[in-house]
Amino acid sequence: MLLCDFHIHTKYSDGSVELRRAVDLFGQAGFDVIAITDHVVNGDSSFGKLAHRFRFTVNENNFDDYMAHVRQEAERAYDKYGMLIIPGVEISKNYISSDKSAHILILDIKEFIPACWSYEKIFREAKGQDALVIACHPHHTSEMTIRETLFLWNNRDKYAKYIDAWEIANRDDVFNVISLKKYPYIANSDFHRTRHLYSWKTLLNCEKKVESVKQCIRHNKGVAITLFRN
Ligand code: ZN
Ligand code: ZN
Repeated sequence: MLLCDFHIHTKYSDGSVELRRAVDLFGQAGFDVIAITDHVVNGDSSFGKLAHRFRFTVNENNFDDYMAHVRQEAERAYDKYGMLIIPGVEISKNYISSDKSAHILILDIKEFIPACWSYEKIFREAKGQDALVIACHPHHTSEMTIRETLFLWNNRDKYAKYIDAWEIANRDDVFNVISLKKYPYIANSDFHRTRHLYSWKTLLNCEKKVESVKQCIRHNKGVAITLFRN
């Protein structure tokens, strides 16, 4: 099965590791497929404005550079490690209330999507780009320093139809509500620093091609999770 991690941050947002170094870390650790998913933060809240001021976000102006750099690294990673890289972002709707906040991975993104758009508009645009929509860390987490993102779970009856898969595990946390609801799932590191390499991952039984990976996640057959340890 393919060893995969679809949730990785770099210095393009609030990660502490440069893109190239992150790619080498995962390549040397034997990964088959990864996604680079830096934050795209909403500018319509105080938290969002801070992220923009400190450049902890990909924005409309540097999105093309970000994508070009990820594609360049994808070529290098395939030649050097046989590792596939999928370009993505993490749309981050950050508000004071965790009930209002949500983070969404858009995997295989092509054009910039602003985080201040409505959920429907974001999901439809992602679908139009043939990208995958993943609900990130959708339930209570153990990490006290992180604001929780409960909006999508609390409004799942309305939005589940747009979501290709939910994170059933993120770094050290497992969200058993996802299995109870029988939702499609994947597991990711939410990599921000080197030690986060060791965390929950996805295993996929499919070909090492972007389209096959997307199909496998969408159909959610031949998917497993594993705790990758040192
Ligand atoms: Zn997040
Ligand atoms: Zn993240």
